[in-house]
Amino acid sequence: MIIKPKIRGFICTNAHPVGCAQNVQEQIDTVTPNSTIAKSPSKVLVIGASTGYGLASRVVSTWACGADTIGIYFERPPTKTKPGSAGWYNTLALEQKAKDSGYYAKGIQGDAFSDAIKEQTVELIKKDWGKVDLVVYSLAAPRRIHPKTGEVFKSVLKPISQPFYSKTINTSLQSIESISIESASAEEIEGTRQVMGGEDWQLWLDALEQAGVLAEGASTIAYSYIGPELTWPIYRNGTIGKAKAHLETTARQLDTQLKAKGGWALVAVNKAVVTQASSAIPVIPLYISLLFKEMKAAGTHEGCIEQIDRLFRNHLYSKNSPELDSDGLVHMDNWEMNSSIQAAVQEAWPKVTTENLAQLTDFAGYQEEFLKLFGFGRADVDYEADVPLD
Ligand code: NAD
Repeated sequence: MIIKPKIRGFICTNAHPVGCAQNVQEQIDTVTPNSTIAKSPSKVLVIGASTGYGLASRVVSTWACGADTIGIYFERPPTKTKPGSAGWYNTLALEQKAKDSGYYAKGIQGDAFSDAIKEQTVELIKKDWGKVDLVVYSLAAPRRIHPKTGEVFKSVLKPISQPFYSKTINTSLQSIESISIESASAEEIEGTRQVMGGEDWQLWLDALEQAGVLAEGASTIAYSYIGPELTWPIYRNGTIGKAKAHLETTARQLDTQLKAKGGWALVAVNKAVVTQASSAIPVIPLYISLLFKEMKAAGTHEGCIEQIDRLFRNHLYSKNSPELDSDGLVHMDNWEMNSSIQAAVQEAWPKVTTENLAQLTDFAGYQEEFLKLFGFGRADVDYEADVPLD
């Protein structure tokens, strides 16, 4: 099939298998010239492993740490007439490339929130590894079926207590628009916490511990975001921020639990990057377009792979202990939050209009990254060629 991007609003509904494989190769090529990370884990479980920060964590674990990996993901396989999702093709490519390089890499496709997938993972670890050293928790999901009650929770991106009025990019029309978002109900706040908070992370660690598959010193990390005040009404002080606060509290509980066996639990506050999850958040694509312009000019721009390589190399598995803030968080967003970068973004924010979007922001870079998420827009892929969907 000849595959061209099908974009609906902030999502692309198809993906290109060759482009996705090239994206994975590019990530591998980013980390392999660096030295192997010493003292690093040898058996890594990545939950949410097929795109974004989870995919990068799996690449770094394999090609920078030399670790065996199991990846958990929820993706759409191809049918005879329809391409699979980007995460499906990323995983296919990663596991093939890992095997070709002599690494163990197996995946489990299914709902990570369910007991069934946790049990299947435990069985695979018991059969193939015995124990796991590191658990990376990198889920970004719109809904969760609670494994004990069957209740369905939905995650929403809304402010709390008062409506939020701002400007945003309409990515389809390439225009700047006003946006107003009603404040969330108590039910929506709780729903978002249930999906994106720390309860499921805790359930994963409990399941692994009870099954006796956590190695001595086993550790775990999850990812969060804080960002600048400009985005706080919709992010940090909104429904998603409340869920992230719960994730961060869970990290402290898990840290106590794992310390007993010489391990740790941490949350890394990562930089804003273009992923399927972040492109769905109102206002964030405009902020990212301004941010990328400044960070590229300053030479500090990073994507998922550079962030996670730096996280593992300079913090988690460096000679020195990770640098933590007073809340126990690792800040990988330090270059994003640099005061001159933020001052430039703040200065440009009120000036951006549809007419000057291309001059004042790196919206072109945003769009390039967005298309690339789905394997499109790469110069090294022939998009006129007929490719097999599987
Ligand atoms: P993403 O959308 O690229 O990846 C989400 C992953 O979760 C995919 O692998 C997907 O298959 C998996 N997933 C979703 N629902 C699932 C389910 N029910 N069962 C199994 N797997 C499921 O997201 P991302 O942006 O990489 O986000 C990962 C984490 O990083 C999130 O916690 C997010 O808040 C955090 N983070 C993201 C950014 C950003 O700018 N994108 C910044 C800082 C922190």
